Amino acid sequence: MTGRTKLFRAARDGFRWEDVATLAYKQEGSAAFRDISRQVLFEHPDLGCQLRYFEMQPGGYSTLERHEHVHAVMILRGHGECLLGQDVRRVKPHDLVTIPAMTWHQFRADDGEAMGFLCMVNAVRDKPLLPTGEDLAALGRDPRVRAFLARTGGR
Ligand code: MN
Repeated sequence: MTGRTKLFRAARDGFRWEDVATLAYKQEGSAAFRDISRQVLFEHPDLGCQLRYFEMQPGGYSTLERHEHVHAVMILRGHGECLLGQDVRRVKPHDLVTIPAMTWHQFRADDGEAMGFLCMVNAVRDKPLLPTGEDLAALGRDPRVRAFLARTGGR
């Protein structure tokens, strides 16, 4: 979104919004992820945050990462699972997930269904850290986490 803030944006079919571009999730090759897109719904110079909408195709997933900034997430469509710290949870529409600082997190859509979520984040934020082999080994000591990581390619 550039230029003057547009005050009204109509929803479009398929979880799209008027004059909001659907972007690549991240730069290809920067980290492991699959079949996920990003839309920046709100950002404003006087409001120090952004509201984004991420959508994963069936079986798609976000990057396993952690960082100093915090996320506030609301699932908007579909079903899937969320790794948060050492916890793996099922998620469904309108569930809320708070991702604290320096906590490993990753979302994965179920195989049969796209999953989308809103994510609020600081406009100015630190760069996500990716897990080392040692981090993955530590996470994988929990069998549920290990099984989750196997469904997201182990990283
Ligand atoms: Mn993150």
